[in-house]
Amino acid sequence: MRLFDTLTRTERNLRPIDGATFRFYCCGPTVYGPAHIGNFRTFVLQDVLRRTLETGGIRTFHVRNITDLDDKTIRDSQKAGQSLAEFTAAWSAQFHADCDRLCCLPPHIEPGAVAHIPQQIAMIEALLAKGHAYVGGDGSVYFKIASFPGYGRLSHLDERELDLGKTQNTRANADEYEKDNISDFALWKARRPEDGENFWSAPWGDGRPGWHLECSAMIQEYLGDSFDLHSGGVDLVFPHHENEIAQSQCACGGNFAANWFHITHLLVDGGKMSKSLGNLHTLGDLAARGFSPMEVRYVLLGGHYRKPLNFTLDSLSGAREALSKLAKAARQLAAKIDGEPCFGTVEFGPFQAAWDSLQNDLNTPGALGGIFTGLREASALSGDAAAMALAGLNRVLRALGLTLPEDSSAGEVVVPADIQALAEQRWQLRLAKNWAKSDELRAALAAQGWLVKDAKDAYSLTPSLGSLT
Ligand code: AMP
Ligand code: ZN
Repeated sequence: MRLFDTLTRTERNLRPIDGATFRFYCCGPTVYGPAHIGNFRTFVLQDVLRRTLETGGIRTFHVRNITDLDDKTIRDSQKAGQSLAEFTAAWSAQFHADCDRLCCLPPHIEPGAVAHIPQQIAMIEALLAKGHAYVGGDGSVYFKIASFPGYGRLSHLDERELDLGKTQNTRANADEYEKDNISDFALWKARRPEDGENFWSAPWGDGRPGWHLECSAMIQEYLGDSFDLHSGGVDLVFPHHENEIAQSQCACGGNFAANWFHITHLLVDGGKMSKSLGNLHTLGDLAARGFSPMEVRYVLLGGHYRKPLNFTLDSLSGAREALSKLAKAARQLAAKIDGEPCFGTVEFGPFQAAWDSLQNDLNTPGALGGIFTGLREASALSGDAAAMALAGLNRVLRALGLTLPEDSSAGEVVVPADIQALAEQRWQLRLAKNWAKSDELRAALAAQGWLVKDAKDAYSLTPSLGSLT
């Protein structure tokens, strides 16, 4: 298959460099709260990449870390009055449950930063020994970016009007910083009182590794110095991935990643998703409004990964309708087949175009469109041709990680029991002409994301994303 590579800005064929297994790394979640559906755009697309490779007959080896040690996990574990381990274990479990609901395959290895401190210390020792790092006056260790001429290639910093000479002598100690702030970055952060119990001993003093280092150390441990592909959301290109390349190539040599796969951000109602804007959606919020994880997955597949995708209530409702249409057509196709189909070669039949879309730069919206065109074509088939079409459809669905609703009732709004009870109570108040109380309950329902519409003898409930924000 072909995929766009961020470093060379070209589409390239993906072939395992060892000729056997496609070995790839994805930056995982920072476990200090629930992952939002923007995070899941990235994780779902990475899952589709893996599934597409596997459906095409390529074995994969997938490593994704858990960031359980950084400024944010420490800060919020303390706010919660829990140990870092207890706090991050709970959010990791929530992340895994969400991944399961979204049908994302678990990675083959999922290492955490806290469990890999010795590997991170060893990498700093190698960088210090080779003159790529220095101990600052504060006891922190910094990577000297002037010592690595390749710095900035991935994010094409040479195309930006930045004076590298001026910025190279500055330092950043925070885990996250912006592109205009190119500076030596922390490999090791000296112990501070606010870190509490979260510090380790190293030859240059107590402290903890900087955030960028964990991925380099895990990659060296589980994938070695050269592997097939590295991935994350676009926000990770700079500085995180740029810093990973610098650390890994200076400490270990090798080519690091042969391909870079970055997923463009998910927007909500046309804007950035953020906690402070209150438009940060999780699977839990959406389930409370009656939307299934598969509907969310369908929405996330509806945009090409190199373009921003706008998340709206309409797109979720559209996904519900599309999934139920798809399920109905697939059932009709399956009903035509009796007995075991007999055909030798594995082909896609009318779903060839859908499969080709995936092979062509992971074009998921193209694949969804191809499924509907294929279903129209397949409706005229019978016998072995219909059986082959169904097998082709199932292979494309497997690559997309889509499971279809099973019965014809699927596709209807699922109203949670507590909302249903509240709506019923309001209806009874309305019948009793208790307008004030009934309006109060209407407002309560709206606050929980449900709009009530009254007809003469009945009412209906529709989910409303607007009231979430
Ligand atoms: P984090 O938990 O913040 O470390 O992020 C986990 C993954 O989600 C990273 O690969 C991020 O680049 C990615 N990510 C964060 N926000 C978004 C978004 N709005 N759309 C798509 N991916 C995102
Ligand atoms: Zn990383």
